[in-house]
Amino acid sequence: MKQQYILALDIGNTWLRACLADLRGKILFLKKVAVQPFWNLDQSLDHLSQLVDKVLSGCHAKSREIKGAGISFGGLVDYEKGRAILSHNFPVWKDISFCRFIEERYGFKAVMDNDANLGALAEYTFGAMKGVKNFLYLTVSTGIGGGLILAGKVYRGSTGLAGEIGHTLVLENGPPCTCGKRGCLEALASGTSLARRAKEVIKGGNRNGKMVLGLSGGNIEKITGKTLFRAAQMGDKFSLNLFRNAGRYLGMAVAQAILLLDLEKVVIGGGVANAGKILFDPIQEMLDALLLPEPKRQVRVVRSRLGEKVGLLGAIALVQRG
Ligand SMILES: [Zn+2]
Repeated sequence: MKQQYILALDIGNTWLRACLADLRGKILFLKKVAVQPFWNLDQSLDHLSQLVDKVLSGCHAKSREIKGAGISFGGLVDYEKGRAILSHNFPVWKDISFCRFIEERYGFKAVMDNDANLGALAEYTFGAMKGVKNFLYLTVSTGIGGGLILAGKVYRGSTGLAGEIGHTLVLENGPPCTCGKRGCLEALASGTSLARRAKEVIKGGNRNGKMVLGLSGGNIEKITGKTLFRAAQMGDKFSLNLFRNAGRYLGMAVAQAILLLDLEKVVIGGGVANAGKILFDPIQEMLDALLLPEPKRQVRVVRSRLGEKVGLLGAIALVQRG
């Protein structure tokens, strides 16, 4: 029988990625390009089709050998219609049928979902959550997204937004969030919010931020989540404290989800999750404090190991499942 492939696309706020995989989900050829903030819609679509052309020719694959395309999108998605509703970070990606674009240009069928749902599906199919029927996937990076697998299936809810734990309230009248509200989890535990908090405290004259300031070359505006992570690794109490607070807020939100849905496990990915123990210990402590004492079982919170390919793997899994 002729070789068949799955095409996967990951349309994110920082990278466009494309790959070809075999039907078992093994990635054979991958290409990516950094998203430029000045791209208009036509330029975005040009770059996308160039990537597709490259991975097809990289495997000498013909369109008829493609079983289907899966697309992961870093924003709101109308799953039924295969359409991107909007991206908070990239305003030109608004109301676009990426699936139709691929179908019309290449002739094979495309399916699409948001990156958080596909992150959950990737963990369920290829990652740490194989065989776990009820879990929450959380991605903590510049923002915070979440996806749910319930009874072994992606749970999308009534409008496709199920699992959006980043915009649940964890601190009344807390700091402003990208969504326009205040005190959301994303405003207290994302990489962006950690950096913002550090800047505020240092600008307020707190001397404990000296190491962080040093690591950013003395330029307060250059402080990022990564700077704080580096300082925390060197034992800097100021940064450790920021991660600890972020972990506690994450634990609070995750505990509500577990209580509501009786989840077995939680898996966390995204750049901030690379902080490891300094973030995961306070999360677990918070869960131990907030979950019910009976039944006596500990809900484990584990780190995602799928790395930057998680979106592509989720898109592959979406096609595999038909
Ligand atoms: Zn919000």
